[in-house]
Amino acid sequence: VVELGMPTRSVITTCAYCGVGCSFKAELRGDEVVRMVPYKDGKANEGHSCVKGRFAFGYASHPDRQLKPMVRERITDPWREVEWEEAIGHVGRRMMEIQARHGAGAIGGISSSRCTNEEVYVVQKMVRAAFGNNNVDTCARVCHSPTGYGLKQTYGTSAGTQDFKSVDKADVILVIGANPTDAHPVFGSRIKRRLRQGAKLIVADPRRIDLVRSPHVQAEHHLRVLPGTNVALINAMSHVVVTEGLVDREFVDERCEDFAEWERFISAPEHSPEAVESITGIPAAELRAATRLYAGARNATIMYGLGVTEHSQGSTMVMGMANLAMATGNIGREGVGVNPLRGQNNVQGSCDMGSFPHELPGYRHISDDVVRGTFETLWGRVLHPEPGLRIPNMFDAALDGTFMGLFVQGEDIVQSDPNTKHVTAALSAMDLVVVQDLFLNETSKYAHVFLPGTSFLEKNGTFTNAERRINRVRPVMAPRTGKHEWEIVCEIAQAMGYPMKYDDSAQIMDEIAMTTPTFAGVSFAKLDQVGSVQWPCNDAAPEGTPIMHIDGFVRGKGRFVTTDYVPTQERSTRKFPLILTTGRILSQYNVGAQTRRTGNTAWHPEDLLEMHPHDAEVRGIRDGDTVALASRVGETSLRVKIAERMPVGVVYTTFHHPVTGANVVTTENSDWATNCPEYKVTAVQVSLKHPV
Ligand code: SF4
Repeated sequence: VVELGMPTRSVITTCAYCGVGCSFKAELRGDEVVRMVPYKDGKANEGHSCVKGRFAFGYASHPDRQLKPMVRERITDPWREVEWEEAIGHVGRRMMEIQARHGAGAIGGISSSRCTNEEVYVVQKMVRAAFGNNNVDTCARVCHSPTGYGLKQTYGTSAGTQDFKSVDKADVILVIGANPTDAHPVFGSRIKRRLRQGAKLIVADPRRIDLVRSPHVQAEHHLRVLPGTNVALINAMSHVVVTEGLVDREFVDERCEDFAEWERFISAPEHSPEAVESITGIPAAELRAATRLYAGARNATIMYGLGVTEHSQGSTMVMGMANLAMATGNIGREGVGVNPLRGQNNVQGSCDMGSFPHELPGYRHISDDVVRGTFETLWGRVLHPEPGLRIPNMFDAALDGTFMGLFVQGEDIVQSDPNTKHVTAALSAMDLVVVQDLFLNETSKYAHVFLPGTSFLEKNGTFTNAERRINRVRPVMAPRTGKHEWEIVCEIAQAMGYPMKYDDSAQIMDEIAMTTPTFAGVSFAKLDQVGSVQWPCNDAAPEGTPIMHIDGFVRGKGRFVTTDYVPTQERSTRKFPLILTTGRILSQYNVGAQTRRTGNTAWHPEDLLEMHPHDAEVRGIRDGDTVALASRVGETSLRVKIAERMPVGVVYTTFHHPVTGANVVTTENSDWATNCPEYKVTAVQVSLKHPV
């Protein structure tokens, strides 16, 4: 507990960092937060917390906060502080001018997974009803959009199958492309506790992450998969299940469809562990042994992260894992399932709220006349039936001169999206970029309007965590900017001639409940009474749904999907001989805008490049040296950390700091189904930088 003085009152709220969604008591002396105490009755964390969450309150009062709106004509002009009325009027007028000149589809918005469900809901409503198009996307585009696609195709819903507690019943835990002890520390500790009780662990990851070997924990198998070859790995595991008679026939016959076709596909010798050994880098015998352990367990669960989704075959891999779980009957009870560990606090919620260009709230396609009609009646506007632009399409259209106005809610797209040069060129080509955020950031360098946002301590709403748990976010203080974020969005819509008004954010949740079947039983009053609920929460499940697909899949039968392995286009070459993969560290959160401004800044003041000793030695690089990291799209400078945990030929860095971070070099490659960027595979060269 970080103490600054004796508190006089407390407010129970939810951490605004990762997808675990820990509950905290924010303790105050007067109006000043003096400490954050993990809340023992919080259902996601049961009294535990990590270092990020305990320090989280610091950034809310940081002097870098920009508290007044600002406007400028050109991005080379100095900012001019203005009143809210002028800023909002300016945004509304300029957006309409762009539409008059370039057409209704020339503007759009990006919602933030750091904002509340209510704040996200009004952004997609503003875009659809006031902008008159479906050019709304969420920053989940660049992290878990393949989860949404893959699990919907196979199971019928775009979300994980279990609650966190379920892992306490798992006998085998398969962690793929996730590093929970750094990125989801409280859940990482829960996994470790279960392992100490005797559960077995399989880790599939190029790096020797902490879970592979740490005090009292040792993975049975570390499948050191080469970046970009996940689908070959998962197909080989399913091949072993099918060809060694490990299929749960009863489950498959009763609960699934399209098994026979998939069985023929996966039985082919090309999917055997031996055939793919040279592709994945995993010894066939080890892969067979790991698969037998998973398939032979009474309860086996899969936990995965961005090491699965951020690939050109991210969606294919999600479906591959869904196939494996169905084939072994590991769905629909405690201790099993397929579970995405969501990166940001409200990734699940921002997707649930319909901030995709093709889906209305509740994952219903915009082309569905009945669903669209419901919203048209309620919102009083005819909605466009065609999907709008995804984030990368917006950038491409800006460079073509057909997309000229962008509203960005709480997301530093210049630092977080791939291929920085491409992003900044697109923003520079737009007539109007509006940034709503806490701090001036890399994206605001290209903005014409800055609208100050609120921290989680000033918000009143809900976040939905990785286990579909809807948690209350309660205000600890009034908005320091004088305006709630949902009010700003409503007022922009009004400035564009669309009447959009709510008394408070509880009323927005009431509208969400009215329009979104999975949220039908949710209200602030209910959440305040029961603490939190997991969706679906409706008449069929008034207490919520900790575990999904118990008696049947949401789509009826679970669907087996053939998952061809297609190698990524990104290959190491003579010029770019190493593969870069990216991720996060324990003390920082995403672009670091928040964590860099709290008491933990001293721990990791820069992004480091992790490199195997052999790769360093052949380049004459020593620990701490500054190197040039270059790919075909860009170059940056970083200091090297020699790390035994890296495999030879693979380097790793983070994107927590502006300018130096990984995204200067990551490329335009993306998932075939969702355009989720391939952050995990970039061919690079690393060379020692000599002082000039
Ligand atoms: Fe919990 Fe994640 Fe916040 Fe840590 S960062 S306290 S694990 S929600």
